[in-house]
Amino acid sequence: MIPYGRQSIDEADIQAVVEVLRSGWLTTGPGVEEFEKVFARFVEARHAVAVSSGTAALHAAVYALGIGPGDEVIVPTMTFAATANCVVFQGGTPIFADVDPETLLIDPDRIEDLITPRTRAIIAVDYAGQPCDYEALEGIARRRGLHLVDDACHALGAAYRGRSVGSLAGLNCFSFHPVKHITTGEGGMITTDDPELARRMRIFRNHGITTDHRERQIHGAWFYEMTDLGYNYRLTDFQCALGLRQLEKLSGWNTRRREVAKKYDAAFRDLPSVAPLAVTPEVLHAYHLYVIRLQGVDRDGVFQALRATGIGVNVHYIPVHLHPFYRRRFGTGPGLCPVAEEAFGRILSLPMYPGMTDEDVETVIAAVDRAVHG
Ligand SMILES: *Cc1c(COP(=O)(O)O)cnc(C)c1O
Repeated sequence: MIPYGRQSIDEADIQAVVEVLRSGWLTTGPGVEEFEKVFARFVEARHAVAVSSGTAALHAAVYALGIGPGDEVIVPTMTFAATANCVVFQGGTPIFADVDPETLLIDPDRIEDLITPRTRAIIAVDYAGQPCDYEALEGIARRRGLHLVDDACHALGAAYRGRSVGSLAGLNCFSFHPVKHITTGEGGMITTDDPELARRMRIFRNHGITTDHRERQIHGAWFYEMTDLGYNYRLTDFQCALGLRQLEKLSGWNTRRREVAKKYDAAFRDLPSVAPLAVTPEVLHAYHLYVIRLQGVDRDGVFQALRATGIGVNVHYIPVHLHPFYRRRFGTGPGLCPVAEEAFGRILSLPMYPGMTDEDVETVIAAVDRAVHG
């Protein structure tokens, strides 16, 4: 079976984790700060806050912006549910935006119509690993006084007009789940240039507890206060040790992802029923996913045929506004985002991970060729 995504772990990664386990400092130790510092530098942001998942990263971002009941946040519907769920966690309302048919990225032209006096933020998703049109998004955010968040869970190592993903929005969220670019098992990170937002998110990931140094001096070292409702969203030191090692290998891995994409692109140029997503010239793509749109052939038939031959294709995603929870709670449903709904019936994610050999890629290409002609 060739899966659609897979982590790469080597002996040195394992050793780094074991070392921390032997050190006795399992959590909230020096490894967390080091991973944060190196990560922030890597994405060219001032601050990085490590958390226990990409979902926790999104939740912390929405919290830090003070979004709550009555507030609306615009999110693309072509994404993983967590992008919208984080708004609901804090009592806000996600407003689903349709996507561009060629890239499946949030369509800036459709955002203005969704803005109301209650709108507080836009969460952009760099779907498949391609950064959104940040020039347009920044323009809208600035003109309309909205916060801009990047759900960058697909795009670690990508860039837009030479600027790193992680530095493109006020808050930028990453996931370290095993199918993502680097892994810590479960894990996440938020990057920002704003020290106050970083401070709030550090408190949020630790139950809402502050330890003010001056207060500690007055009351003794035992003193702490819970100033707001937070969660235990901490990442452990041994996970951070793994993340740090993984980050060293990211650039090489992304180079390989781009090579695989290039081979797919070349092979599908001659297959009229297979249309890869469009890539705009402004971006350096991180290829978390390689998504094709099928034309004139039945997607589910192709899916079944590929799965039957051991090719782990997948569908990313069922548009979030079609999920039963959102239909029930917010009254969303078919017709709300027609472009995403139409694309959803035709998309397929092909295997894409740095450990793929040339032979694996050839196997996938041959199987797709057979399946669409089958
Ligand atoms: C993976 C992912 C998340 C959630 O990350 P977890 O670490 O699994 O919680 C959120 N948004 C997008 C777009 C993702 O791909």
